[in-house]
Amino acid sequence: MTDQELQARVETISLKAFHQPFRHHAVFNNRLKTTGGRFHPADMNLDFNPKLFAVYPASVTDGIIKHELVHYHLYDHHRGYQHRDHDFKQLLTAVGGSRFAPPLPVNGHQYVYVCTHCGRQFVRRRHIDVRRYACGVCRGKLRLQKTLAS
Ligand SMILES: [Zn+2]
Ligand SMILES: [Zn+2]
Repeated sequence: MTDQELQARVETISLKAFHQPFRHHAVFNNRLKTTGGRFHPADMNLDFNPKLFAVYPASVTDGIIKHELVHYHLYDHHRGYQHRDHDFKQLLTAVGGSRFAPPLPVNGHQYVYVCTHCGRQFVRRRHIDVRRYACGVCRGKLRLQKTLAS
């Protein structure tokens, strides 16, 4: 996913889940370690962890985007926008945002396989023989999408 695609995704989710536009910038930031994303009150921009977006499906990364948009929209409306605030907890639950960033792949090589039929992604520590193993969800054919080194 490129920065442009990320920006478009954030704008779409903002309209769909919050019924309000996202009018600032969303970018990937390689220096983020364990956080999924950050909201910057000073300039209202968001940044996101590209490592998580590389290994998790949209069902997970959309939750990360919603989490940051909860900060964004609450701050914009001068409401409690921090994790401890009641407004934050309530809106996060209402839109289905994720509470915590999912774990990053651990040290060593990781192989990301994608099902050519249902699109589900799988992260494995070892090579899979794609001629012998099928998707655990739909039995579709797997394809090695990328190798991650950490
Ligand atoms: Zn947060
Ligand atoms: Zn599948």
